[in-house]
Amino acid sequence: MPQKNLAATLIQMAEKNFSGIGIEKPRFEARILLAHVLGIKPLDLISDPNRNCSRKQMHQFESLVNQRARRVPISHLLGRREFWSLNFHITRDVLDPRPDSETIVAEALKRFPIKRDPLSVLDIGVGSGCLLLSVLHERPQARGLGTDVSQAAIDISGLNASRLGLADRAEFECTSWIRGIKTKFDLILCNPPYIARSEIELLEMEVRAYEPRLALDGGWDGLAAYRELMPKLYKILNRKGIVIFEIGLGQALDVISLAAEYGLRTLAQSRDLSGHIRCLVLGLENNEDK
Ligand code: GLN
Repeated sequence: MPQKNLAATLIQMAEKNFSGIGIEKPRFEARILLAHVLGIKPLDLISDPNRNCSRKQMHQFESLVNQRARRVPISHLLGRREFWSLNFHITRDVLDPRPDSETIVAEALKRFPIKRDPLSVLDIGVGSGCLLLSVLHERPQARGLGTDVSQAAIDISGLNASRLGLADRAEFECTSWIRGIKTKFDLILCNPPYIARSEIELLEMEVRAYEPRLALDGGWDGLAAYRELMPKLYKILNRKGIVIFEIGLGQALDVISLAAEYGLRTLAQSRDLSGHIRCLVLGLENNEDK
């Protein structure tokens, strides 16, 4: 009979539980959760599987495993998610940063390639701050503003800015989209809610039950946010500025034509690692950049 308080035994039990209910990487997740409880790296559990755990740690682990079995996202249990190799504090008040959204950061850096150039950035619907703060991290002379209609999200992005040492270059404002914004920006980033309302119930449980609707629900066809923002962007965009929008599957043509109606030209369409068009780069008609 293996000892109950051994890390290896605990991981095995959690793995069995997770695989029985279809969690995709049962062993990997079990190890991450136990490492979190023990305050060590998951790799340390591979090199030393026979670590003893205290009673308190066993209980903590059990509680996390039970929550994960109810499909609470792992980022909520750990309180963090890595994005662009930075650590972001995450709760159920903000969208869990997706690796696909790193496409937006990569595109932004490509468009503003000189590290020490000054740059003004606006992130509309800033959530955790992952887009804005990743760009500020890479461009040390850049300054940015993040807006969000959720005060809880503003608190989290502010906290992330401080933790990442970027608070002196980032401001946050609780407002709907761009209401009240009077200045112009070189770079506008936005990952709006773009899931068609009727499709939300088809998303995986981790998303539909635990992530903020506000960050997902794009109205009946998923395009509500683009319709709201396109007519207003020219007012807050510098002449040579660009807007980078994340979009959902199959939305490129619709969003490109919406942009065109309001004098915004599509300068590029970028694909994510799965080959889907993930973001559109827009500029004012007189922006001659290719
Ligand atoms: N990319 C998210 C998803 O597929 C949706 C985020 C959004 O609507 N901006 O669940």
